[in-house]
Amino acid sequence: MLEQIRLTHPLVYGNFSAIEGGEEHLRALLAIDRYWEQLDCPVPEVVREGERPAAEAELSGSFDILYAGGTLGMLHAAVMAKRYGYRVLVIDRGEPARSTRDWNISRSELHRLADTGVFTIEELDSFILRSYRTGWVEFHVPEARRKRLFMDGVLDCAVDADKLLALAMRKVLETEGSKVMARTSFISCSRFADHVEVEAAGPDGSQLRFGAKVLVDAMGIVSPVAMQLNRGQPQTHVCPTVGTIASGFEDADYDVGEILASTEPAEIFPGGGRQLIWEGFPAKGDEYITYLFFYDSVDSPNDKSLLGLFETYFRKLPTYKEPGAGFAIHRPVYGIIPAYFHDGAGCTRVVSDDRILLLGDAASLASPLTFCGFGSMVRNLERLTSGLDRALRHGTLDRETLAGVSAFEHNVSSMANLMKYMCFDARTDEPDFVNELMNEVMIVLDALPLRYRQAMFRDELKLDELVTVMLRVAWRYPRILKATWDKLGVQGSVGFLRNLAGWAMSPSTKHS
Ligand SMILES: Cc1cc2nc3c(=O)[nH]c(=O)nc-3n(C[C@H](O)[C@H](O)[C@H](O)COP(=O)(O)OP(=O)(O)OC[C@H]3O[C@@H](n4cnc5c(N)ncnc54)[C@H](O)[C@@H]3O)c2cc1C
Repeated sequence: MLEQIRLTHPLVYGNFSAIEGGEEHLRALLAIDRYWEQLDCPVPEVVREGERPAAEAELSGSFDILYAGGTLGMLHAAVMAKRYGYRVLVIDRGEPARSTRDWNISRSELHRLADTGVFTIEELDSFILRSYRTGWVEFHVPEARRKRLFMDGVLDCAVDADKLLALAMRKVLETEGSKVMARTSFISCSRFADHVEVEAAGPDGSQLRFGAKVLVDAMGIVSPVAMQLNRGQPQTHVCPTVGTIASGFEDADYDVGEILASTEPAEIFPGGGRQLIWEGFPAKGDEYITYLFFYDSVDSPNDKSLLGLFETYFRKLPTYKEPGAGFAIHRPVYGIIPAYFHDGAGCTRVVSDDRILLLGDAASLASPLTFCGFGSMVRNLERLTSGLDRALRHGTLDRETLAGVSAFEHNVSSMANLMKYMCFDARTDEPDFVNELMNEVMIVLDALPLRYRQAMFRDELKLDELVTVMLRVAWRYPRILKATWDKLGVQGSVGFLRNLAGWAMSPSTKHS
């Protein structure tokens, strides 16, 4: 497979060839890139009303909950198995409990996983590879006007994702009757009045059929279930992200996280353009994680493939962090971070169906601004698991009840609108648009109490705080008014207002 990209993507070829498991990573990356082809294909029908339930003997196993997807799905499964005693089956088409990314979060947020009673604080602390003194955000404008905004307690711990997931998997396996199956792909789901039957393909291609009371779809952005339930439009925006965990940089500061950093104006191509943004996070020992990404709408003409972005990453890396003589890549990290614009006062994306619940990136309810699916899962895990337990006990596994146990948060859906301003559009924007705007946001945040910057970058901003920030930015930077028209249009602006109205009316806002 690597040979096939030798001429088209020479830098990816060279670097992946030198990484252990490079071929396997390329395969996984191309599987995610197939997302773009799927959007052009007829929507697959993977959820069907069942005609004839299988006899017990025809099933490969029966469980309370079947999880398709073993990354964030594994965290949820651990709680449902260990705390509530359900018999769960987790299937993953690759290796379960392995992530193609690494996660940053603050210690206090990570500790919220202990609220489930399944993880102890000591266990959670043991997954923190490194914590930093502080972090900053900075956008590329002339140096005299450039604001480097420092903030503490934001994404300041690098978490060993695979260790955390491995512990979650152990907790699943410790529960009698629960099971985890690797290299087992979800194929389809037949639904009956009192159960679902999931057809899967085993490691050797064999056909398997499992019974369960409920299917949890945790297959990430490529989920065919999310694709079907959302009629072929599972996301409105995306953030393709690639990077590496490497050692041997000349200029890495191991005490400080670089939360967002741009180093140049937007790149312009014939028919399109994108504003590239870097992130840099120290990890264990001398390892350092660098990411390159951009925000975009799903239907823009830009090349959004991870393969193409990786070629750019290797070409531009020295402009961000200088690889020294001992530079070595340990692991690539990559994925498409999903986002969804809810055109209404509440959740307008389909995140459930009768006996089916979507989780993590398959549900696409996280904000892609800085915190993404892991942060959202950590914040909501207690609520998501107790909600599903209640639905199972009461036998209320209908679409509406399950929608109520989703990770939808009014503040996050409103804040996600801000991402639209960071989607560079070559038809309307000057190449410095995103950098100038974001620099103004940093200046405004710098003048406000520390809580504002922390809350903004931890998805915890309150409605009045967001309005304060927006008004101050508009006052300093009136260009944003035209940009609002260009980027949001009438539908997007009305939608944003409806998101804010929904937030204002939500019980959490009314009672705060
Ligand atoms: C580079 C990068 C860095 C990130 N850093 C952070 C961070 O610092 N903090 C944060 O909060 N978030 C971060 N995120 C986001 C976070 O990683 C995701 O939100 C999270 O991984 C989503 O998990 P998931 O289980 O929903 O989906 P995925 O991670 O995509 O996992 C889906 C799983 O489903 C399996 N699967 C797919 N199809 C099938 C099938 N047909 N049958 C069976 N199994 C299937 C896959 O093999 C995979 O294991 C980052 C994302 C990226 C790309």
